[in-house]
Order: sequence, then C-alpha cells, then structure tokens
Amino acid sequence: MAPSPARGAPPAPGPVTAPPASGPVACQAPPPAHGRGRPCLITRRACFCASHLYRLPELDDATNHERFGPCSLAPGHGHNYELIVAMAGPLDADGMVLNLSDVKHAIRREVSEPLGFRFLNQVWPEFDLARPEGRLPTTEALALAIRARLAPHLPLVGLRLYEQPDLWADVLAGPSIDPMEAFLSIRTHFAAAHRLAREELSQAENEAIYGKCARPHGHGHNYLLDVTVRGAIDARTGMVCDLAELQQLVSDLVVEPFDHTFLNKDVAHFASCVPTAENIALHIVDLLSAPIAATGARLHKVRLQESPNNAAEVFAETPQLDMRPAALEALAAG
Ligand SMILES: [Zn+2]
Ligand SMILES: [Zn+2]
Repeated sequence: MAPSPARGAPPAPGPVTAPPASGPVACQAPPPAHGRGRPCLITRRACFCASHLYRLPELDDATNHERFGPCSLAPGHGHNYELIVAMAGPLDADGMVLNLSDVKHAIRREVSEPLGFRFLNQVWPEFDLARPEGRLPTTEALALAIRARLAPHLPLVGLRLYEQPDLWADVLAGPSIDPMEAFLSIRTHFAAAHRLAREELSQAENEAIYGKCARPHGHGHNYLLDVTVRGAIDARTGMVCDLAELQQLVSDLVVEPFDHTFLNKDVAHFASCVPTAENIALHIVDLLSAPIAATGARLHKVRLQESPNNAAEVFAETPQLDMRPAALEALAAG
C-alpha cells in the first residue's frame, strides 16, 4: 500500500507535460451555438401619449364636423397610444435576434420621444395639412409613418398601434408589402344566449356532442367582437375607411340584432344553424362583407371571443394571399 500524504500536505505533483506548440487539438468541444442562425420573431412594446385634430383646411367647419365628428373640434384631443413592434431574424451567438436595449433605444429615439406629449399634426411632415400631400394623423396613417421611421433601423415584420383598447391599426413590413395598405380593427361586444343542439338529434345525442351547452333552456355569454378591415389609406384623410361608418355597420348589422337575444330563437339564421362561436363568426362575416366592401375597404377578419377560454376567427378574404398570419398573431399577443 502506498503511504497516504500527510494531512494538509500538498498533493504530490504529477508529471508535467507542456501543451504541444502546434498540431491538431484533440477532442475540443465546439463552442455553444446558443441557437445561432435559427429564425425567431420578437416583439417590443412602447407607449406614448399625443394629441391630434381631424380638420382639413380645404373644408369649412360644418363639413369637417360632418365628416370627422368630434375629432374635428379645435384644439384637438389626445390618446394614450400603445405600439407593438414585431421583428424577425436569425439568432446571434448571444441567443438574441437583436439586443433589446438597441431596440428600445431605436423606438424611443425614432418614435416615443418625437411624438410623446406632442400635437401630431405638427410633428412630422406627413401630417402637415398645409402641404397637398399632408394627411390626417389617423391611427392607420400614424402606423405607416412610424413604420417609415423604424424600418431603416430594425428588421420589421409589422407593427400594431392601439389608439385605444377598442381601436387599433396593423401594418406589415417588407419589400412585397403595398406601402399604403393598412389594417384597421374595432372591438365591440354583445350579450346573448344560445343552446347548442341539432334539431334532428335526441337530447342524449346532443349532450354527447355538446355537453352542458345542449341543456334545454340555454345559457349566455358576453361576446367580444373584433372586426378587422384592410385597404389602402386615403392620401388626404389618412383613413382606410370611414371609421364612424364602419362602427355604425357593425352596430346596425350585428350588435343591435344580436344583443340581449336568444340566438336560436331571435336570429333567423340560427333557427337552422347551430350557433357555435364558429357559426356566429361566419354569419357575422356574411353579414358584414358586402356592406364593408361598399365603404371602400375589405373585411379581413372577424374574431369572436365567447369566453376567456375560447374564441373563433374567420379570415374573410379567400384565398388568404400572403397574409403571414404568424406575424399578425405575434402582434396580437403583444
Ligand atoms: Zn383621436
Ligand atoms: Zn355557450
């Protein structure tokens, strides 16, 4: 048996071997990749408050008020805007698409600081209405202007701008995107009851399919309805469509007829069609598509949230073209 080293004594030195001065290094592990090169989409949120006024100098007061309602009242009014910026690209060796600090500073420098606490009509030349190419700083026109400021600095996929929680605009980015196109969404709600059952089936069969939703006397939901239209913004009004007209259509054709009803009995369509969230959303698309087309925009999407746990979405335009729904979903999740 070899003698043990004394307690506290340094270990006996082993043979010293110098590393080879040259030649291949055996069994060296590759550097960690940290996802390098793999694509990912990221979002960043920023908020700012600003005021604006919808008043075209070539129109008199009465006509401005007729077209833009209280938004035409001087000296203007303000909003707390929320901006969601979506970007995409391959991860770098640090595991990031971009350094978020750089993203934050770019958005602050290009958007939040120039616009924050300002009167939008006077901030950027796009909104100088004394110029023939000036346009009103609507939500969708502001989204386009912000995209123009951020695109040189960030790998944009798109951005969403909330003027308020029930009104927002989306714009996509990239070389194949129509530079004047924008999406405008409004949110509203209605309360209604329904019963999920097919007339030709027995109660037991219906309960096997629809569970508690087939109980004979129905139940109700507070439905949240998002309607998204798309189109080119008007060069002067900055609008995809007349917002008040869009809100009126949704109110007249959906909210008023559906609100506080028993859908199966009070809405003729659902006498023979099971009013699942999917079928309600599809019916809303059918009700709105043609009237919205008459406003100059196209109905793009209807999203009906039935409960905190379920929603149905219908893309009204077919085919969906190159809508890149993943990009829009990322914006929605922001
Ligand atoms: Zn406003
Ligand atoms: Zn239900």
